[in-house]
Amino acid sequence: MLRGLVNKIIPFSSVDGPGNRTAIFLQGCNFNCLYCHNPETINLCNNCGTCTKVCPTQCLTMENGIVHWDKEKCIECDNCLKACKNCSCPRTTYMTVEEVIKAIENTRPFISGITLSGGECMLQKEFVIELFEEVKKLGLTAFIDSNGSIPFYGDDRLMKAIDAVMLDVKSYDKEEHKMLTGQDNEIVFKNMEYLASINKLYEIRTVIVPDILNNEKNVDSISKRLSELNPSIKYKLIKYRPIGVRTEIIKSSMPSEDMMEKLKSIAIKNGCKDVIVV
Ligand code: SF4
Ligand code: SF4
Repeated sequence: MLRGLVNKIIPFSSVDGPGNRTAIFLQGCNFNCLYCHNPETINLCNNCGTCTKVCPTQCLTMENGIVHWDKEKCIECDNCLKACKNCSCPRTTYMTVEEVIKAIENTRPFISGITLSGGECMLQKEFVIELFEEVKKLGLTAFIDSNGSIPFYGDDRLMKAIDAVMLDVKSYDKEEHKMLTGQDNEIVFKNMEYLASINKLYEIRTVIVPDILNNEKNVDSISKRLSELNPSIKYKLIKYRPIGVRTEIIKSSMPSEDMMEKLKSIAIKNGCKDVIVV
């Protein structure tokens, strides 16, 4: 039976798409962004056992070489995440579509939809499709938060199941994108064009990091491309914040308000009609 590897479910979120939504974070990502704010979602657990030694409530145990998490005993202290050198998390759960639907049963009357995030949820595409097909039957909208590295094009069943995508465009420049994420950005731009052409691109996001990225060039080039595609699509400029990041691999200050306003004005000058700073 198909199962998805779920990192966590946030019952109510107002920052993961339109309206009040349940956000579901899947485990595993094919990028390794220097500024990742939840690096514990990047890799799958290799069952090394390190985290079991730091859990104050003994809710992590090794059973036949596999780390086991007792949810009832967990006090969410995050000691396990701090101890893990593998950018992973012992508190993930394999869930069927039916189990996820059951988990949102109580919040369902109060939400407008589901947003799948990660990690990179498109790495578990078959699970995304089957879950969203059920979500749609409940009359909820189905949104995806993606790093854009897996093609959305060429899969009619997938695109029928998804209402819209919130797409990260982390850098316009190929080399800079590789330095930041470890991967190329070619498919990201193909996805951006495709999703805009079928009216399923909800927003583009770019994180502004003063000391390591060419932010002006990025915002200038990305906003020009976006306004050519559809100037009404939201362009979100996100301030880098050094919270939850791996400080051993990134050293940067936060962008100033002036810097963010300047970048916003560049995007507006290039024709984007809906630019926000967060
Ligand atoms: S977050 Fe939970 S599992 Fe992790 S160390 Fe703390 S109590 Fe143990
Ligand atoms: S979560 Fe990390 S530390 Fe814990 S067993 Fe898995 S890889 Fe090891």
